[in-house]
Amino acid sequence: MAFLVVKFGGTSVADPERIKHAAAKVAAEIRLGHKVVVVVSAMAGVTDQLLGYCRSISPMHDPREQDAVVATGENITAGLMAMALQQRGLRARSWQGWQVGIQTDTSYNKARIKYIETEKVIARVQDGEIAVIAGFQGINEDSRITTLGRGGGDITAVAIAAAVKADRCDIYTDVDGIYTSDPRYVEKAQKLKHVSFEEMLELASLGAKVLQTRSVEIAMRADVPIQVLSTFGNDVGSDYPGTLVTREKDIMESKVVTGLAHSKDDAKIILTNLADKPGVAAKVFGPLAAANINVDMIVQGASDNGKTTDMTFTVHKTELERAIDVLKKEQAALGYTDLQTDKNVVKISMVGVGMRSHAGIASTMFKTLAEKGINIQVISTSEIKVSVLVAEDYMELALRSLHTAFGLDKDEAA
Ligand code: ASP
Ligand code: MG
Repeated sequence: MAFLVVKFGGTSVADPERIKHAAAKVAAEIRLGHKVVVVVSAMAGVTDQLLGYCRSISPMHDPREQDAVVATGENITAGLMAMALQQRGLRARSWQGWQVGIQTDTSYNKARIKYIETEKVIARVQDGEIAVIAGFQGINEDSRITTLGRGGGDITAVAIAAAVKADRCDIYTDVDGIYTSDPRYVEKAQKLKHVSFEEMLELASLGAKVLQTRSVEIAMRADVPIQVLSTFGNDVGSDYPGTLVTREKDIMESKVVTGLAHSKDDAKIILTNLADKPGVAAKVFGPLAAANINVDMIVQGASDNGKTTDMTFTVHKTELERAIDVLKKEQAALGYTDLQTDKNVVKISMVGVGMRSHAGIASTMFKTLAEKGINIQVISTSEIKVSVLVAEDYMELALRSLHTAFGLDKDEAA
């Protein structure tokens, strides 16, 4: 017998029929003798619809009331799922975040879970009742409803799994696992059986959208394996049909490169003719940090005259306008002559724990892109990833050629 947290995303509960289908998956786990906590998202499109209502009342609406409104999407699904389980003759009840005691901080629209009072829920689950918990929401010290940020249903699921020390957290979604690259662009992409927490954390933060990044962080800290699997196949979780995200040492063989991620969320900024002297970088990035603007990739150009230099870096597209404002205000202090920006860029990243022990991975990446005539604009690396920024038009070509170069292509015969 295992203790499982099973989470269904929006497409998996998009209408009453799908909710019944998801309930059948839960019933199958119960038949196998497992104890189950179910976490649900809002029906597909509902969160966006509710956010639209809020914006229609006022673009500058109260973020606290926004949370009160958008949290209701998950409440609907939780009640319907409990009914669907009851319809199958199972004992089930729904729980909203505040009823469980999911305590968060007060940062509305992106709250963080502080702790979860699991005792009440656990006692009933141990007694054979299925708990159906509304994802994405909690309550704060002011007794107000909070939400955890887009995709936050994953955070609820993993945080509950960590709190109840579940054996596994199954995330049912509309894809059947984590792929070596996005199959929409790379048709030879393959489903991975295993991914380590570290790799998944990089992949999620570098653009893979399947799991919410913070949920992976929580799983890694609590050492709860996550399985990503599709709601639409016939398998149930305990057969491991999906991808298991787990500790590195539980993974037997691993390739040097595990997967490729891409993100079109960044924009490039180039400052030309900055003074080439100590303190320039601090002067550029200090004011951006003070304005709470995250800078990701950075490259400082070589200076040809010893007096001036160029600085190229990326920020999130949604923060580009603000970044330009900040930099223009500082122009006199920074002394640059030109500020250029480019939104038509994509960040391509290779991730793999095998990079720790293999030299030459980055150079193979650069050579592969050079052979295709793809210009690399900015580079950044960490212990288990290399990211490059290239023109958006080359995205598919870059992904496909790297996928082949690192031996990730699906066997043609398979
Ligand atoms: N319903 C929320 C969203 O659409 C949370 C989730 O589905 O994970 O972002
Ligand atoms: Mg999701």
